[in-house]
Amino acid sequence: MGIIEKMRLDGKKIFVTGGARGIGKTVATAFAEAGADVAIVDLDFDEAKKTAAEIEENQEVTAFAIKADVTVPEDVDAMIETLVDRFGRIDVAFCNAGICINAPAEEMSFEQWKKVIDINLTGVFLTAQAAGKIMIKQGSGSIINTASMSGHIVNVPQPQVSYNASKAGVIQLTKSLAVEWAPKNVRVNCISPGYIGTELTLNSPNLQPLIEQWNQVAPMKRMGRPEELQSICVYLAGDTSSFTTGADFVIDGAFTSI
Ligand code: NAD
Repeated sequence: MGIIEKMRLDGKKIFVTGGARGIGKTVATAFAEAGADVAIVDLDFDEAKKTAAEIEENQEVTAFAIKADVTVPEDVDAMIETLVDRFGRIDVAFCNAGICINAPAEEMSFEQWKKVIDINLTGVFLTAQAAGKIMIKQGSGSIINTASMSGHIVNVPQPQVSYNASKAGVIQLTKSLAVEWAPKNVRVNCISPGYIGTELTLNSPNLQPLIEQWNQVAPMKRMGRPEELQSICVYLAGDTSSFTTGADFVIDGAFTSI
């Protein structure tokens, strides 16, 4: 079997949090294109259902939506129950739901701080923990977390202390889980994207002046496209990455190299 065949995900059971739109949707689509059955997990159930329907329409796989808030342990447990019920197993978890709130550190409210940490860091922990329990029982699994280049550098000019701290936390959370679960054959990696132009960011008039500033300093003079994160996630989800764990993949067009 050639390397491309070996990278396929036929029959794998995968769930994607924050899968209704943006990076989650684009990567879920790639998983399905590679042959996996996918569950689209999101707070926005209507959009998640649309995404799942779109995937099923275009690929010969099963796709369905689950409503869950990754910050609520009961929601996460119910999501895992549904997944085990529908799929029988969980091969891959893409813990990707996340938000950003910009506010100067001295003015950031406790609620703003907590909301970002709860979704971006605690949500990833709760999701990975719940999926990890199933994977440990199975004796195999791959967890992919979405961190960010903001876990490595401080973005400017926008002030986003809680986001940066949460994403640095995701990178170290990833490495900690990877070390703990390596003997159990559960791999844990993360991706650290640079600025990615999703429908949302590209269509937001508020963000246009910022995007121009980012692109001026970006070595490639542009944002990334969500599609440019697909292949690394398919690699991490599949069996050819069997020795890859505890790794953080920075995909940023060299933004953090300057
Ligand atoms: P997005 O806003 O387009 O999508 C995020 C999705 O997560 C939405 O569908 C939203 O409903 C869902 N969500 C939010 N809170 C949730 C919760 N509590 N429970 C369940 N679902 C929830 O964002 P995106 O740009 O696709 O970003 C996805 C991930 O990538 C995030 O973790 C983000 O921090 C990270 N990231 C984005 C960029 C970028 O430039 N877009 C760069 C680096 C990292």
